[in-house]
Amino acid sequence: MQILIIEDNRDLATNLVEYLDACGHTVDAAMDGPSGLKLALSGDFDAIVLDLGLPRLGGTQLCEQLRAAGRATPIIMLTGRAELDDRILGLEIGADDYLVKPVALRELEARLRAHVRRARGGLDEGILTVADLELDERCVRVTRAGQPIVLARLDFELLRLLMRASPAVVTRTRLERELWGDQPPRSDALRNHIHILRRLIDRPFPRPLLQTVHGTGYRLAAPE
Ligand code: CA
Repeated sequence: MQILIIEDNRDLATNLVEYLDACGHTVDAAMDGPSGLKLALSGDFDAIVLDLGLPRLGGTQLCEQLRAAGRATPIIMLTGRAELDDRILGLEIGADDYLVKPVALRELEARLRAHVRRARGGLDEGILTVADLELDERCVRVTRAGQPIVLARLDFELLRLLMRASPAVVTRTRLERELWGDQPPRSDALRNHIHILRRLIDRPFPRPLLQTVHGTGYRLAAPE
């Protein structure tokens, strides 16, 4: 998973980064509210670990601003016992969960996994649709305008990633990581698969859905 840690206590931040990194996650960290918010908005994270007491922009405000910007990334708040107020207990600030310091690292990692699974699982059951393109996740079947399209497994996974994120852009880095994990392919492998996908799902039809966002990645959406 791609995890963002926003924590101003350097020792704790280092601990969290080292632990989650050792668990095989990719971890970014910010030491204050504004840079954390900036990273959270610009990056592509599966989950965020957010300290409540942060300089310049507190965890509560950061969380609210992120939600106001339409980001649904799961957030686990870290809080001191003394800071624990009713809003956090009730999670009325838009966070998904909280942990009281001192942080039990294994517990944190387990909860991160659970929240990310739940966030993804919400989309697990069934059929994804973008315009007249349909992908049935259970039956591994794709149709466009009712016509069946046969895709190799990897192209199916690529299309599924793009459809789940639609209409958002998915970065090249994220697609490569999801498709090939820690063994990155040749630098043009992703582009080749995008090319295959485009030929199969777009070329026979009047309206292209697969768009290249230069310098960033790809998105799948009906043209405006
Ligand atoms: Ca703090």
